[in-house]
Parts: sequence; structure tokens; C-alpha cells
Amino acid sequence: MIQNLQCFNEKIEALKELLTENKKNNVLTGAGISTESGIPDYRSKGTGLWERFDPMKYVSVTALMTDPKKFFDFNIPTWTKYVNAQPNIAHKVIAKLEEMGYIQTVITQNIDGLHIKAGSKRVREVHGHLRTCHCIECKKTFPFEEMSGQYFSGINPPKCSNCGGMLRPDVVLFEDPMGKDYLKALEDMEGCELLVVVGSSLQVYPVADLPSFSKKLVIINKEETPWDRYADLVIHESIGEVFRHLAEIMYINVN
Ligand SMILES: [Zn+2]
Repeated sequence: MIQNLQCFNEKIEALKELLTENKKNNVLTGAGISTESGIPDYRSKGTGLWERFDPMKYVSVTALMTDPKKFFDFNIPTWTKYVNAQPNIAHKVIAKLEEMGYIQTVITQNIDGLHIKAGSKRVREVHGHLRTCHCIECKKTFPFEEMSGQYFSGINPPKCSNCGGMLRPDVVLFEDPMGKDYLKALEDMEGCELLVVVGSSLQVYPVADLPSFSKKLVIINKEETPWDRYADLVIHESIGEVFRHLAEIMYINVN
């Protein structure tokens, strides 16, 4: 629950003002925005998956190449949950804010595709997405369901129907280089007046550097981040509550 309602209301008013008085506003989202869509935040304290599992052993290029069976056993069931998840109020309000001209670009660390499902148009998925996969040999692209479908019918690792090579998802694994969306995100940060960080603890580089390219900074995250002390506004509350209230005072109907 919200600890201090008056203070909370003032912060949401301040957020509205920042969004309306600045012209080039971007949003940067991380795992925290999707927890209310049923997707766990792997880095959150106490419940984070990465406190129990070493990501290098499960979600890295080395893991894929040395023990693909274990790689797919670990990842495909999780990713399938992401693919079936639905956007929540925060994704929906952000999409409306873009439509209304208050947000120019959504940069996301998430691979769940929920910004696009919510209707956001200009989205940079800097860690990739789960709409497609590709063959590591001939590079042919397939829908994600080609890979997950084979897996669930007992074919592990999933194979390319063109050349028999192994399929892999179009997500940025540990040890992968950043994709082209990251370069686009850097361009989008040029001249950025306001960056609103939503649900990212700003610990994963190079994305954690993006706030340094913005004149003003807002952080909406349940936990503290290393950027809090440089921010113009910090809101440590439920992301759903923040966007529900923002929608109310900006007359945004997301039904
Ligand atoms: Zn192939």
C-alpha cells in the first residue's frame, strides 16, 4: 500500500508536469514493469531467479553451445509464459502517452514484447524479443512457435527445417553483442530532455548508462537504483499504482 498518499499524489503531479513541459521524452523499462503481467523479475531481492541460478550457466551463448538440451529445458517453458502474457496498465498508459505525443520512444530491456502488444509504436527492444528465432547455421528466420513447438513435441534441441542446424531465439543472451536496437536507442537518446525509467534497477550495462544522455531523469521503481540521487523525481511505489493514478489525472482511458 502507498505509505504517504499526499506525498504520492504530489509526485504523480510532478511526473505529469515533467511529461507535459518537456518535448523529447523517452521511457526506459525493465523487468519491474512486467511483474504485474505475471512475469517474475529475475533480479529482485529475495525472489529473484538469479539468486538461485547462475545466468551464465543457463542463458548464455556458452550454455547454448555446450549443453543445448539443458539450455532449452530451462528457457523454453519460461519464454512460453512470456509469449502468453498480457500487457498491464503501465504498458497501456505508456502506449497512450506515445499516441498523445508525450513520449517519443520506449526503450526496453524486456524480451516479453508487452509494449508492442499494448500498442506502443516506436519500441527499441535492446535485449531482443520472442516473436522469432533463427537458425545458427543458415540464419533463416522462423516464428518463435517453430522452436517452442518442436521442443514441446520432444525435439530438443529444435532444428532448422531448411538445413538441420540448431534454432536459437532472437534474444540477446549473455556473451552476445548488443543488437541493432541498442544503436537505435542511443540515437533516440540524442537531445533527450526527459528519461522516465520504469521498473529497471539500472544494473545491467550498457543500458544502465542511458540516463547519462538525458537532461532530466525520473525513476519509478520499487527498489533503490544507483541513479536515484541524480534523478529529478524518484517514486518507490507499485508501478501499477503510479500509472493508474497518472492515467486518472491525465484523463487517459485504458479500459
Ligand atoms: Zn538452417
